[in-house]
Amino acid sequence: MDDPAAGHVLYMARLWVKQSADLVWGPEDLRVFGTCGVAYFEGPAADDGDVVVLCEGKLTASPDALTVKCQECGEVHHVADLLADIRGKVRGEPMAPRAVREHLQAKARAFIKKKDFENWVALGALPYVLDRVTSSGRPQRIYFPGDVLHVFEYMRGRRRTVA
Ligand SMILES: [Zn+2]
Repeated sequence: MDDPAAGHVLYMARLWVKQSADLVWGPEDLRVFGTCGVAYFEGPAADDGDVVVLCEGKLTASPDALTVKCQECGEVHHVADLLADIRGKVRGEPMAPRAVREHLQAKARAFIKKKDFENWVALGALPYVLDRVTSSGRPQRIYFPGDVLHVFEYMRGRRRTVA
């Protein structure tokens, strides 16, 4: 700390870490976690006309971040909590593979390739239920969107560590 040369090296090392991370993942590779949602009061404190407002700050962070700070209100969210929250919201009703992928794209901004989905099925990574209401008479496999999202997050994390 007291050695100016050492301080300089530390400063440079921090830059190198940032630059190398940018080289590998790209500087704008941000994950979107939806809106902040923290409740706060708006209006004069003594007034009974106070309104509870939910913070609408957009939460984004780099893929490796463990926490996300809301740029609007400063609330710090844990990524694990946000993911659990998103999973809870999208678990939903079981549906066919194509519908699951469309659902997750719309609700959780998770873009899942058809090929990836088929790979996870082949690996036995996706729990399924059998839908008995089919015209062909053969039960079709349907999937909970929340389970698929869970596997998606896991696979993405694994790909990063391996690379
Ligand atoms: Zn906020």
